[in-house]
Amino acid sequence: FAEVLKCAISDVVKKLMQKGIMATATQTIDFDTAVEIGLEFKAFVELEQEVEILDAYFNEEPEDPANLKPRPPVVVVMGHVDHGKTSLLDAIRKTNIQAGEQGGITQHIGASVVKINGKSITFLDTPGHEAFTAMRLRGAMATDIAILVVAADDGVMPQTIEAINHAKAAGVQIIIAINKIDKEGANPERVKQELIEHGLVAEDWGGDTICVPVSAMTREGIDNLLEMVLLVAEVEAYTANPKKPARGTIVEAKLDKGKGPVATVLIQKGTLRVGDPIIAGTSCGRVRAMIDDKGRPLKEAGPSTPVEIQGIDEVPVAGDAFFVARSDKEARTIADKIKAQGRVKLIQNTPQKVTLDDLFSQIKEGEMKELKLIVKADVQGSVEAVRSSLVKLSNDEVAVNIIHGGVGAINESDVMLASASNAIIIGFNVRPEAMATQKADNENVDIRLYKVIYNAIEDMEAAMKGMLEPIF
Ligand code: GDP
Repeated sequence: FAEVLKCAISDVVKKLMQKGIMATATQTIDFDTAVEIGLEFKAFVELEQEVEILDAYFNEEPEDPANLKPRPPVVVVMGHVDHGKTSLLDAIRKTNIQAGEQGGITQHIGASVVKINGKSITFLDTPGHEAFTAMRLRGAMATDIAILVVAADDGVMPQTIEAINHAKAAGVQIIIAINKIDKEGANPERVKQELIEHGLVAEDWGGDTICVPVSAMTREGIDNLLEMVLLVAEVEAYTANPKKPARGTIVEAKLDKGKGPVATVLIQKGTLRVGDPIIAGTSCGRVRAMIDDKGRPLKEAGPSTPVEIQGIDEVPVAGDAFFVARSDKEARTIADKIKAQGRVKLIQNTPQKVTLDDLFSQIKEGEMKELKLIVKADVQGSVEAVRSSLVKLSNDEVAVNIIHGGVGAINESDVMLASASNAIIIGFNVRPEAMATQKADNENVDIRLYKVIYNAIEDMEAAMKGMLEPIF
């Protein structure tokens, strides 16, 4: 036990004695005592058998390519406030009603499936990058494509830039919907021009970013936009294995008066069936009934399908993982375990957060080759000055990458982006908002505030020196 704890046998014996247990180096101690003593050494003791069950769920075997089948793309809509995200989603959802494909009354379950040219596209109904990054933060990489809405009469705005950087950090495909083209003063070309500054060059400007002019109001261009989504999906060839127990992400959950706790789950792999024992976040149960986004009851559902399920014992949290267990008992055991650990296992694959103070040790342990930063300042001039000075600190061993820069206080969105991307936030003559500070504490995100640019560069340089690999 001492060996595992990486401490001296005498220290363990001493702790045992303090608890009134007289033990020698070869004696066996029971599990509860081991947990207690482990805590004294800041170690979390778990039963091996349970660890094995959990590992089987969280560290999946790599998929055999032969089992992978095409699946519909999962799309999220992002963009600046009032640029038309909600209107666009509404217009998109009406596509099927107009095409007479509706098979029931649209239910608001948190995600919807739209059919075009006989192919399906799954849309997450919550617009905005906060929801998107909140999911990513919990380890759920549920989306493939981000539709970035930019109003043609307003152009690229601060939250447009935020959304671009959130989508880029997540590595999802970006399709631009230039909205409100029906409006007087709409200038799609200006939008394309402004996007170039953010690394998105429209196809007709010689780049590879798909830009579709649309009007959520008149519905002009909506079909074209959906066809572009299918085109990207075809190129990217999204696949999943439908022939295994289902797993995926909770999209929405609530307590329904009649049905009890219900959750909308987005199936990412496998097939979910009525009767399956299931773990959803910290809740568990058996799938009693399933409906799709049109309110139709289903017996089974495959990858990229959002379904509302009944039969779990508690309301889970959006962004949590769900998966099918082998038995009711196992579902219960795992749910209890996850609950006890406060979701630790769910996010165990997220690397340790980077901080300026322990950069050096993190580098030595791992393989950090990139220092990601988010820069917020009071004026645009400072953002640019800091950006160019810091990027210049890059060298052959370590690249400094400013994943987001902007004017204004450090907000929750910045902290979420930093957390999901493992970045450090640097503020110049700005302060974090109260909610951002709280979130940064929860997420262990390092925020550094400066008044003088030189001091920031000095700090970074010092940290970077530690980042350099020793040269022999
Ligand atoms: P969100 O904040 O991004 O979700 O934006 P909304 O969908 O709420 O739209 C903001 C405002 O823009 C609303 O008053 C909409 O009616 C209006 N709007 C959205 N799309 C269009 C459009 O294509 N044309 C026009 N003229 N107005 C639009």
